[in-house]
Amino acid sequence: MTQLLEPDIGSFRETFGGVVMSPGHRDYDTARSLWNGAIDHRPAVVAGCLRAADVVEALRFARDRGLEVSVRGGGHSFSGASVCDAGLMIDLSRMNGVSVDPAARRARCGGGTTWAALDAATQEHGLATPGGTISHTGVGGLTLGGGFGWLTGKAGLSCENVVAAEVVTADGRILHASAAENPDLFWAIRGGGGNFGVVTSFEFQLHEVGPVVELGLLFWAQDRGAEALRLIAQVLPTLPPTMGTLLACLNAPPAPWVPAEHQLQPGYALLVAGFDGPDPHTAFLNEVRAALPPSFDFVTPMPYTGLQQMLDDTAPWGINAYEKAHYLDELSDGAIDVIVEQMPRKSSPMSFCPAFPLGGAYRDADENASAFGGSRSAGIVFNAAAVCPTPELLEADRAWVRGFWEALRPHANAGSYINFMAEYDEDRVRAAFGPKYDRLAAIKATYDPDNVFHRGVNIKPAG
Ligand code: FAD
Repeated sequence: MTQLLEPDIGSFRETFGGVVMSPGHRDYDTARSLWNGAIDHRPAVVAGCLRAADVVEALRFARDRGLEVSVRGGGHSFSGASVCDAGLMIDLSRMNGVSVDPAARRARCGGGTTWAALDAATQEHGLATPGGTISHTGVGGLTLGGGFGWLTGKAGLSCENVVAAEVVTADGRILHASAAENPDLFWAIRGGGGNFGVVTSFEFQLHEVGPVVELGLLFWAQDRGAEALRLIAQVLPTLPPTMGTLLACLNAPPAPWVPAEHQLQPGYALLVAGFDGPDPHTAFLNEVRAALPPSFDFVTPMPYTGLQQMLDDTAPWGINAYEKAHYLDELSDGAIDVIVEQMPRKSSPMSFCPAFPLGGAYRDADENASAFGGSRSAGIVFNAAAVCPTPELLEADRAWVRGFWEALRPHANAGSYINFMAEYDEDRVRAAFGPKYDRLAAIKATYDPDNVFHRGVNIKPAG
């Protein structure tokens, strides 16, 4: 890697169509900071892009000078992949426009859009595409790596809802990717991560959702964890596949809807989102409540955009974080024993384990239609996340996450989810793609033979 000198940055500033931020610029520190406060990298220059042509220009400048390149969408990679030291950071956060065609049920958004912005625009028409569960997360990284959320059972992964994309490749071409144009690139960007280029815009198919949906949250205190998890394991297969569920092992938040005696207390929550009116939702919750009365519950209709923002405070910007995840074929007795043994060992009250039960459209999808490599027979993706207000707590809970993950390993299947990785161990990356890895490596060799885009989950170019 070469050293970038001030005159180089000056010449870039003269020709670049976007905003150039180098050390000393008033927005430089904001631009280089990510959601994970434990990440502290200092790029030589940040290229704040406004359009695809700016991405082309930034890439050309970086490659001419042998600079490392990183690409920032929403800035939520736990690993810090989207910011680099001494290189050039392509910052897409200004490319956040959204347009919706309600008649065609399509939405187009820039590569740096957040889910909050996309959901707000599509919900004006009572439509949505499956996104993540925290609204300040980027559409870019979440979609390119897969995308689990409330709508996964109803409408599949985020990446499976992409119908077209505009991609700037490593050699500076602006390509359109869809089933009809550059189909290999289109296949690869849906699940293969940011390996193949900079996605400057996504086009999604939309589904009728809301605008009002049902939320039910049942919470059992920590001492009833095993009973609660066994019940959850038993009832999940009976859940209508179009409902969205999240299992969260966490300390109850200090929210007004949590009774005072349970606020900040550890326990296990089953969250159920209903998209088909209150009746099936109420029936399911009543069944669970009758089988094991929760310590407290919270059941309410809410706007879909409210559901999408409901957990935002559990993961504030700038918090110190680390995570590791497994796919479990089922929430087996062995897995439950590990979970209830490990949960009380965390140090930070904010550290938690979100787990997405999987079924419905996720399981029914044609698994070869996209590059996403997660197992379709998995019943749940279980994530242990250290979320820590201080670096000292992060050190303790990083060790907790690693120990938890090892203990759960005998109960997990071989797969791995690239978006829930804080570290990119080669064997886990290969496990994430399984037999699709070789095809991805061949496509990587076509579109990025020099491995310019290597900072995220990296697929090495074949040959
Ligand atoms: P960034 O750090 O900007 O990017 C992540 C990676 O994608 C980097 O390698 C980056 O270079 C690349 N990238 C981003 N945008 C582009 C683009 N337009 N073109 C090319 N490459 C790009 N995952 C889920 O599946 N479901 C969830 O509910 C969920 N919730 C989360 C909540 C929080 C608080 C956090 C921190 C993460 C969550 N995740 C979830 C994981 C999330 O999917 C990943 O962290 C994802 O990488 C974030 O994308 P980003 O664009 O915000 O991050």
